[in-house]
Amino acid sequence: MTETEYQISYQVACYPYETTPMHCWTLTVDGEIASRLWVDMTTGEIMNVETEPAHQRNGYASALYRQAASEMPIYHAPATHRSYAGSRFAESVGGESLPCLHGCAACADDEDDE
Ligand SMILES: [Zn+2]
Repeated sequence: MTETEYQISYQVACYPYETTPMHCWTLTVDGEIASRLWVDMTTGEIMNVETEPAHQRNGYASALYRQAASEMPIYHAPATHRSYAGSRFAESVGGESLPCLHGCAACADDEDDE
């Protein structure tokens, strides 16, 4: 495997089809977007991480996480709210998770179990 040069940039952007601005870190390879990390500006919750199929398994999402976490406190979604991919990501990069902020019954049940 050859080392690929990449760059990470930060901007405030709206997630596609959404109107709420979010923190957005973009990793580009040769000027093309390879991976993006979206974080809620109020809670610091990671809303989404997307890596283009051709760029997966290169550790780019982890690189974005490390960069973002070095700039501000960011948190994984509560375990009960994560997608399968979100759980895999949280387990691989580590770091803090938010508690459930929505008062869902399912989450309260989950806490009772532990
Ligand atoms: Zn919840």
